[in-house]
Amino acid sequence: MDGKRGLIMGLANDKSIAWGIAQNCAAHGAELAFSYQGDALKKRVAPLAEQLGSSLVLPCDVTDEASVDALFEALEKEWGKLDFIVHAIGFSDKGELRGRYVDTSPENFRMTMDISVYSFTAVVQRAEKLMTEGGSCLTLTYYGAEQVMPHYNVMGVAKAALEASVKYLAEDLGKNDIRVNAISAGPIKTLAASGIGDFRYIMKWNELNSPLRRNVTQDEVGKSAVYLLSDLGSGVTGENLHVDAGYHVVGMKAVDAPDI
Ligand code: NAD
Repeated sequence: MDGKRGLIMGLANDKSIAWGIAQNCAAHGAELAFSYQGDALKKRVAPLAEQLGSSLVLPCDVTDEASVDALFEALEKEWGKLDFIVHAIGFSDKGELRGRYVDTSPENFRMTMDISVYSFTAVVQRAEKLMTEGGSCLTLTYYGAEQVMPHYNVMGVAKAALEASVKYLAEDLGKNDIRVNAISAGPIKTLAASGIGDFRYIMKWNELNSPLRRNVTQDEVGKSAVYLLSDLGSGVTGENLHVDAGYHVVGMKAVDAPDI
């Protein structure tokens, strides 16, 4: 990724999936900028960015259009062109990430869709103008978009819309050699994940039932992200790459004991 410049959105701390992606991009030679949501997170994001040799750390709350505009204006001024973006942002009211989907409130439905779905389109819209020599855009999704997972509720509906957005954006931007993909990550213990009801049980279930018989790490998501963000993935767009220890292919797991 030597000579490539990319924006990482969604870094909250060193447990974030965005951190695994940033570390791997930097290890492969990419130059990085980071956005953070609110002053409280700046204190955490700036030292992490510094570890990867980046001092371009900019505020952006995706619910505020002016803040998204300001982020891309700052990047244009600093770099002129952009090669890739990583969107690792999602949010829903924790009170609705348990219990039944049918009980979702209209306010939380709209907020979840705005932050977790529309924001990707909003940033790709602005990134397109800076990707004058082609580019790669990546978002993060989860299997709860495809199949019902306990407590994932409105976030599953949002991720389904996000995955559809990836396909529409891929078609719109493909003629400018801009690729748009998603990684569907298996469950990983992060700040956002801790808001999901029974998350430890979900992690244990995945560990016991995935083909690799374990969970994945931020670093593994990061390695696959390098493939999609770099020229290694130059022929791939509109894709949803599962980095989940294979969990998504299992219909029913065989019982390991042969006599049952
Ligand atoms: P995380 O808490 O580390 O990251 C979530 C990020 O979203 C935070 O940096 C937060 O600041 C940002 N964010 C939320 N609202 C925002 C707003 N209004 N403006 C700007 N930023 C905002 O958790 P994570 O698990 O690393 O999440 C990253 C992405 O990965 C999310 O889209 C999540 O749904 C997805 N994902 C997570 C898992 C998992 O098990 N952890 C699995 C699959 C997909």
